[in-house]
Amino acid sequence: MAVQRLDDIRRGSTSLRLPAGRHSSPVLGSLLDEIGMQVLAMLSEKYGLRRVPGLGKEQIVERMLKRLSPADRDRLEDELIAARFGQASIDDLLDIVLETDTDRPSSRPRLEDMSLGDATLIESGSRRWLYTMRGHDLLIDLNQHVLACDCAFFAFSSRRQMPCKHLVTGLRLVPPVYAREVLIDLALARRYGGSGGGWFFESRRAA
Ligand SMILES: [Zn+2]
Repeated sequence: MAVQRLDDIRRGSTSLRLPAGRHSSPVLGSLLDEIGMQVLAMLSEKYGLRRVPGLGKEQIVERMLKRLSPADRDRLEDELIAARFGQASIDDLLDIVLETDTDRPSSRPRLEDMSLGDATLIESGSRRWLYTMRGHDLLIDLNQHVLACDCAFFAFSSRRQMPCKHLVTGLRLVPPVYAREVLIDLALARRYGGSGGGWFFESRRAA
């Protein structure tokens, strides 16, 4: 039965999916909103917009979003993300990703049940890892931006872009540089909205 599940995971992940374009992302506007007036004015000039005396913060943000080229918007977003999350540890990022509404504490995965020793690596390719742990198979695929698991928790939590304890354990096992790439996307989506940061949360639970 385990073999069949693994086959399903392999088959399921062959369809090509691409993350949504970043230019429509709400992230840049939110990141800019968090910046103080001085830095904002400086950034605006750095990206080629002439300083206009008397503009308020909202107007400067609006002007930047409107006037910068798509390439500059991407570069600015990368710069702000690096400033915001560059020093964050995997644990810091997980804290953000696993934030839940205070009225729904049960929606957070029970991480205390898991240890890294529970996981067996089944397959690893370039930027792609398939683990099995405690009877569940999970996939972390940076190429196709897929996070998948077949546990019951994830069948529900995947709709809210919330990883299960298996995926969290997997993210602690893959090389940190890759885990950070996933977690920064998810943290941005959690903090600033957007649909999963371009990641597909795929429940592989058999009906
Ligand atoms: Zn799971």
